Amino acid sequence: MTSFQDFAALCQRIEDTSSSLEMTQMVADFFLMVDDDELEIVSRFIMGLVFPVWSPLQMGIGPSLLYTSVSKASGLPVKEVINLVRETGDVGLAARDALTAAQKAQSTFAVFNEEEPGLSVQNVYNRLIDIANSSGKGSQAARVRHLQFLFSEATPVEAVYLARLAIEELRIGVGEGIVRDAIAAAFNVPKDAVERAYMMTNDLGLVAREAKRAGLDGVTGLDIKLGRPIKMMLAQVSQGIVAVTSEMGTVAVEWKFDGARVQIHKDGDNVSIYSRRLEDVTGSLPDIVDMVRAGVSARSAVLDGEAVVLGQDGKPGAFQQILKRFRRKYDVDTKMGEIPLQLFLFDVVYLNGESLFDMTLVQRRQRLVDCVTPSGTMQVAEQFVTSDVLTIEDIYKQALNAGHEGVMLKNPESLYSPGRRGKHWLKVKPLMETLDLTVVGGEWGEGRRANFIGSYQLACIDPDTGDFLSIGRVGTGITDEMLEELTSRFKELIVVESGKELEFVPQVVFEVAFEEIQKSPTYDSGFALRFPRLVRVRDDKSADEADTHERIEQLYLNQKGRNYNAA
Ligand code: AMP
Repeated sequence: MTSFQDFAALCQRIEDTSSSLEMTQMVADFFLMVDDDELEIVSRFIMGLVFPVWSPLQMGIGPSLLYTSVSKASGLPVKEVINLVRETGDVGLAARDALTAAQKAQSTFAVFNEEEPGLSVQNVYNRLIDIANSSGKGSQAARVRHLQFLFSEATPVEAVYLARLAIEELRIGVGEGIVRDAIAAAFNVPKDAVERAYMMTNDLGLVAREAKRAGLDGVTGLDIKLGRPIKMMLAQVSQGIVAVTSEMGTVAVEWKFDGARVQIHKDGDNVSIYSRRLEDVTGSLPDIVDMVRAGVSARSAVLDGEAVVLGQDGKPGAFQQILKRFRRKYDVDTKMGEIPLQLFLFDVVYLNGESLFDMTLVQRRQRLVDCVTPSGTMQVAEQFVTSDVLTIEDIYKQALNAGHEGVMLKNPESLYSPGRRGKHWLKVKPLMETLDLTVVGGEWGEGRRANFIGSYQLACIDPDTGDFLSIGRVGTGITDEMLEELTSRFKELIVVESGKELEFVPQVVFEVAFEEIQKSPTYDSGFALRFPRLVRVRDDKSADEADTHERIEQLYLNQKGRNYNAA
């Protein structure tokens, strides 16, 4: 058994070095030293991860639970523990100082004292599993007890890394790259074989175990497993359609649907759905399960796609709506009726027992088309392979008109790279500009917000005259906390109050994001902003430094042409 003290000492040594080569070597040496069972655990612990990212087990320990546990183990009041966190800037150092400063409160919890003194990596892991498994009534107290026990048994240096591990923030600079290289070095397996196995399993612990057990054969034997989500391939921001086509030549163009990503595993009639964060959301989306059962003919498959809220006007519903569906745990059927979903599939990475990682997008897509029978609610995303800029611009406009986000430009010859934000998938979306505008007025809110100023009247400036020209109101983007702060600030600036309407001394500048500038006779400037949202207060700017009327006109004219960009 490896002592947790040895693990903590390794973390400390890693923290003291800035060379990633040295870090890799230290981790590799440690991998060679630990027991088989502990290798899997240590490979995750060293990255600050307790369970594989896709595991249903979640630590769920927040700062307050951690401070309470440290407080109980050390005998220091919680307030003092919090002070230590403030002083040291780190929960680990705070835990260490708390435990060093006070007598350990072991005797009260004799029930946890085991025969063997000192913590091992396995002990700590078992205890963390117990924490993750605590649920229901009394689970908070149980978690605190488990953590308290670990802290009571810990040495000062162990306490540092125990505290950080509990909240899964080890902060020693070891990430996936270093662990991958350390596995390769320790067990003499090529790095790309380790990388590939990682893509398939999404668990470096498992890869390390196989590398140790059977070297290259063990690692290459790892494959996608249904029910164990892989990371999703990600997209990068593009420099616009012209730049992409001149670099990539021919591109596969698809709409960039405005919804939420889903990875779907089909194993016979068994269908599981994972969100972008790899949470199992199957229980919330029985309609998607049914669509896949009915319309995907493959015996087994891992499919990639976007779930979109089907709005009443045929356009996609708001993102908040989709979150309501994804997060729903009870009364799922009612929500399903209220917020119907549509599924657009755009990739397949595993089919009938075979991983498709070595196939190009074009080849994978053919497989996808072959196994899907489209229906009113489930389709394969349309794709156009072209190098013609005008065609792509047309598709882009169609996508925006249909209420979607823009287009994805994909390299037709590219392989599926899980977790990568590579240059093979590029997104083209409208440029989201922000404007700095002076706040010239406001309006008292309603209901819950009655005692607060709920919206603010914005203005740009005419530099020739120094006049403020109104351009609309903003009420979105103001958090409850800001609401109070801004209200007391603007109360001092009120010059006229008539009914709910207020006029202010122009003094404060807001940075505001928006989707589009429209012509409008309602406002002095002749323009209005579509979907304005407060980004922040520009305390560094004075009122007369607001954006000018001329700039707004220019932006308005630009967006009428090619308004896509690197957003
Ligand atoms: P972003 O979230 O802005 O980085 O854009 C990437 C996201 O766009 C993906 O994670 C998907 O959820 C979504 N998306 C919508 N349509 C597509 C598509 N045709 N291909 C790939 N991703 C898409």
